[in-house]
Amino acid sequence: MSTPAAAAIPSAPSAAPIPWLDNKAQQRRLGGAIERAIARVVEHGAFLMGPEMRAFEAELAAYAGVRHVLSCASGTDALLMLLMAKAVGPGDAVLCPSFTFTATAEVVHRLGATAVFLDVGDANFNLDPAQLEPGLAAARAAGLRPVGIIPVDLFGQPADYDAIGAFARAHGLWVLADAAQSLGSSRDGRRVGTLGDFAATSFYPTKALGAYGDGGAIFTDDDGLREVLASIRAHGEGRDRYENVRLGLTGRMDTIQAAVLLEKLRIYDEEIAARNRVAERYRAGLGNRVAVPALDAGVRSNWACYTIQVDGRDALQAKLKAEGIPTMIYYPRPLHRQPPYRACPTAGPLAVTERLAGRVLSLPIHAYLEPETQDRIIAAIHDAL
Ligand SMILES: *Cc1c(COP(=O)(O)O)cnc(C)c1O
Repeated sequence: MSTPAAAAIPSAPSAAPIPWLDNKAQQRRLGGAIERAIARVVEHGAFLMGPEMRAFEAELAAYAGVRHVLSCASGTDALLMLLMAKAVGPGDAVLCPSFTFTATAEVVHRLGATAVFLDVGDANFNLDPAQLEPGLAAARAAGLRPVGIIPVDLFGQPADYDAIGAFARAHGLWVLADAAQSLGSSRDGRRVGTLGDFAATSFYPTKALGAYGDGGAIFTDDDGLREVLASIRAHGEGRDRYENVRLGLTGRMDTIQAAVLLEKLRIYDEEIAARNRVAERYRAGLGNRVAVPALDAGVRSNWACYTIQVDGRDALQAKLKAEGIPTMIYYPRPLHRQPPYRACPTAGPLAVTERLAGRVLSLPIHAYLEPETQDRIIAAIHDAL
């Protein structure tokens, strides 16, 4: 094959492109443990409900400090199965932020219920507890019956569960923590998984604890709820597979994913510590120039994302891209502006959400980001601005 003429090559970035994530560095660190774990599953052949799945559930429950973990096929299924267990359906309203990934509200609408969208805080990106009262009023004004709240731990920071929980108890609502981004984070020493009445997380490959495909988990202290969820996960099975006592779905996690996650969980806390060092370096390097993310008092974050706010965001993103620096916009369109949710009630004009959608920019962050690489990113941002 002939080499293309130099003139045909578009102007090269000034240095090698920086990857968004570095799975290779993690694999090197784990020294072949993941490959061996996958090979063991291939060998024993229990591809579903295998021993690694049970072991992962037990280890994750111990890690989070919760009685039960139920592994499942995705974070979306984890949310959906909890709503199914709570018998959410038409006429029900579920309060949630608009500034989140679609799955948070999608599961509500999949069951025929309606999401009521609330605004978030400008500093922490999370559901603003002051929005709960107007959200409840908006739900009732629309003729809906409010049943629960889904706070989202956006970018890794747990929402304000004390305030949200107090409001929920006063109004007879449950609180389902969308902890898809926040596994390993804590608030006042309480780990994600124990915050809210029950919680759902995701092991989508780009989450802080990512599988080699889809996966998710549910956290609960409630023995009865665990039984119902286990049945839902397997087509509503009763005493055996062919007694079907309720509607369910195919919600299981593959044993291979559990085997991968078991290996990654062993080093996860060290990885979170490394992510905290990366976040601190960004804060020190950028805090005087752009709005850097703030943590509430008592929060330790897994720093799933590092999201700054800037005017002229799109121009900055384009300049960084030309330098080989990847960035992401989480999220460019609030849910209440998207077709499936346009008719949903909102707690008000959602002004913070609208503003954030045009200003947020997430920077590369992972446990293997070298200080020199990070300094290149920081310098490029200063140059571009
Ligand atoms: C990733 C994510 C989900 C969905 O998880 P999947 O495993 O991709 O189904 C739900 N909510 C939020 C906030 C997420 O970031």
